Amino acid sequence: MNIPSLHKEFLNCSGVSIDTRKIFENCIFFALKGENFNGNLFAQEALDKGAFKVIVDEEAFHKTTGETILVENVLVTLQQLARFHREFLGLPIISLTGSNGKTTSKELINAVLSQKFKTVATQGNLNNHIGVPLTLLAMKKETQLGIVEMGANHLGEIKMLSEIAEPDYGYITNFGKAHLEGFGSLEGVVQGKTELYQFLKKHGRKIFVNANDPKQLANSEGIERITFGTPQSDFDIKLIDSTHHLLIEFEGTEIQSNLVGAYNFANLAAAIAIGAYFKVSKEKIKAGIEGYIPSNNRSQLISKGTNTILMDAYNANPTSMLAALQNFKQAKGENKIMFLGDMFELGKEAEIEHQNIVDYLVENQFGKVFLVGSNFFKTVNNSAHINKFETFEDLKKELESNSPKHATILIKASRGMALERILDLF
Ligand code: ATP
Ligand code: MG
Repeated sequence: MNIPSLHKEFLNCSGVSIDTRKIFENCIFFALKGENFNGNLFAQEALDKGAFKVIVDEEAFHKTTGETILVENVLVTLQQLARFHREFLGLPIISLTGSNGKTTSKELINAVLSQKFKTVATQGNLNNHIGVPLTLLAMKKETQLGIVEMGANHLGEIKMLSEIAEPDYGYITNFGKAHLEGFGSLEGVVQGKTELYQFLKKHGRKIFVNANDPKQLANSEGIERITFGTPQSDFDIKLIDSTHHLLIEFEGTEIQSNLVGAYNFANLAAAIAIGAYFKVSKEKIKAGIEGYIPSNNRSQLISKGTNTILMDAYNANPTSMLAALQNFKQAKGENKIMFLGDMFELGKEAEIEHQNIVDYLVENQFGKVFLVGSNFFKTVNNSAHINKFETFEDLKKELESNSPKHATILIKASRGMALERILDLF
């Protein structure tokens, strides 16, 4: 079946599913293959559970009764359908990528734009070669604006995602040391992320640029830019206070966010600027930002017992780890304690990047440090305020007999460390 015909079927169904545990009545089930699973095996189950059509790419699972559609490659078909649907709708789409802060920025942008428009934004972190098509296919005729998060861990990925989503506007949160394993170096990261800029430049489209970030300015020359964050930029947005939840000023209006960490200023400023560009009123921008409460252990301020905890255990890489530490250094509190876990996906840079963090902690002593994970365990330090644990279990034993009290605590690590488990030990 060709893509236009499949699209006609799609318009008659209730949506797309890629997981038979989440099948809904009248959906189209795409039988994707992964490293450890073959969706084709679930084709019948999908139909039994109420799927309207099932897309398979193995002849053995193809039935001639019309409910299954045999294609060359299910993933490619999903991507082509998404692209066709995006062109069919023709709505403006804003895409964002970057090393840190994509999801936070995406949620803030959506919080602001949805005050005025019917929006569809990436759900959670569904930002890859499957998530981007699913986001596009969630858009409907009545959708007025799309906000699409794009993630990448190797070169060529953002180019490919851009060709599917065909964004009209782009925003790169920053270039940082994330996914070094796949990109090779910081230069590789810049090259990978700016594939979004290349796409927008080629098609004469616009980008939003944080004017406080010299790397963004340098890499976006020659593209139509909408700038924010300095008095000279198109939208002057100021950080007034970052000691607790960030307080922002935009054209004489104070906006009180629910986010901690000075690094979130860029994320907030981007959302305010994009809102202002799309003519969302100042009152609605304020309402959107003030109503957004972070979840998922991203930059949350939590009180537990006698402790105040800055929970940032959702993820970490060298750039976001350093930003979090610099922020925590400025934070108020007599008794500061840091629980830091390993940073993943650093490839051959792992040893040096973990050591760099430890060196920073030795030079800047502003509290007691607990390091956990095999990478941090291998670092060298001669400082009494730094304690190392190879595993979470080892740290747990220590905390069982010696749990913090009346402390201001930072918790940060890569997702795989699940360091939010520490909360149960206080
Ligand atoms: P992922 O690669 O998992 O999709 P992401 O880019 O979507 O990550 P977020 O989920 O928004 O990023 O934030 C993850 C963490 O990155 C935050 O908890 C925070 O520690 C850090 N972070 C967020 N924004 C910034 C920023 N602008 N600069 C540096 N670090 C940031
Ligand atoms: Mg994300």
